[in-house]
Amino acid sequence: MASSNTVLMRLVASAYSIAQKAGMIVRRVIAEGDLGIVEKTCATDLQTKADRLAQMSICSSLARKFPKLTIIGEEDLPSEEVDQELIEDSQWEEILKQPCPSQYSAIKEEDLVVWVDPLDGTKEYTEGLLDNVTVLIGIAYEGKAIAGVINQPYYNYENNEKQQLREHRNEAKAGPDAVLGRTIWGVLGLGAFGFQLKEVPAGKHIITTTRSHSNKLVTDCVAAMNPDAVLRVGGAGNKIIQLIEGKASAYVFASPGCKKWDTCAPEVILHAVGGKLTDIHGNVLQYHKDV
Ligand code: AMP
Ligand code: MG
Ligand code: MG
Repeated sequence: MASSNTVLMRLVASAYSIAQKAGMIVRRVIAEGDLGIVEKTCATDLQTKADRLAQMSICSSLARKFPKLTIIGEEDLPSEEVDQELIEDSQWEEILKQPCPSQYSAIKEEDLVVWVDPLDGTKEYTEGLLDNVTVLIGIAYEGKAIAGVINQPYYNYENNEKQQLREHRNEAKAGPDAVLGRTIWGVLGLGAFGFQLKEVPAGKHIITTTRSHSNKLVTDCVAAMNPDAVLRVGGAGNKIIQLIEGKASAYVFASPGCKKWDTCAPEVILHAVGGKLTDIHGNVLQYHKDV
C-alpha cells in the first residue's frame, strides 16, 4: 500500500463530500415541493430538477478539482455556467488517512473515467419511495470499476419520521443511527466502508429485482430461479445495498436498461466485499469511456 496522497484517494475523498452535497440537493428539491418532472424516453424513464441540479453539482465540482478527468453523467444537460452555490470544494479527511492500494498509486488523473448517476431510482423518487434513492459516483481505470461512492440521502427516513413523532410527543429520542442519510464508499484492494456487512439468513434464497422496469422476461427469469422470496424495489444502488446488508442474496435483472452509471459504483462496493456483478452471460462489465 502506498501513502494516501495519490490522485485516486484524493478523488475518492472529494467524491465522498460531493456525493453528500448531491444528497442534500436531492432532499432540498423534495422539501421545496417542485420536482420539475420531464419524461425522457417514456413514462418510466424520468428526469427531475433533483437529477439536473445534482448532476451539475457533481460534475462541476469534480471538474474544477480534477480538470483532466473524463466525467460521464447520465443526464443530457446544456453546458452553462453552474451556480457557485452548487460547488462542493471539501474532501472527506478520513479517506485520506487510508493507504492507496499499490497497484493504483501511479494512476494519473487523465487515466480515470468517472461514471455519475446523480439520482438513481428517479421513478421511485417521484412516487415518494425516498429510501430507494441513491447518488452514484463510480471510478474506472483501464475499463475496470475500481472505486465508488454511494450516498443514500434518505437512509433512516422512516426512523427519522418516527423520531420526529417521538420528539413531538416528548418521548425518548431515537439512537444515534437516526441521522438522515449516509455515504458508503469503497476501493478495490482496500475494502468498502460506511455500512455493516450482513449475510442473508442461512438457507434463504431471496432475489431482488426491478419495481418499475419489469417485463415478462424479467419475471420469468426470476421465477425460474425458484427463490424463497422476491423483493421488488427501485434503484440499482439500492438493490446492491440490499445485497451487502443481507436483505437479498442475488440481484437479477434479465433486461437491457441498466447503464454504466448505474453499475460502476455499486459494482465496486459489491466486489470489495466478495460479491460478483456480471452481464447475463457471466462476463464482467467494461467501463471505458466509449463503451
Ligand atoms: P430499476 O431496478 O428499475 O430501478 O432500474 C435500475 C436503473 O436502471 C435505474 O437507473 C433505471 O432508470 C435504469 N433502467 C432499468 N431499466 C430501464 C428501462 N427499461 N428504461 C430506462 N431505464 C431503465
Ligand atoms: Mg440509475
Ligand atoms: Mg439516474
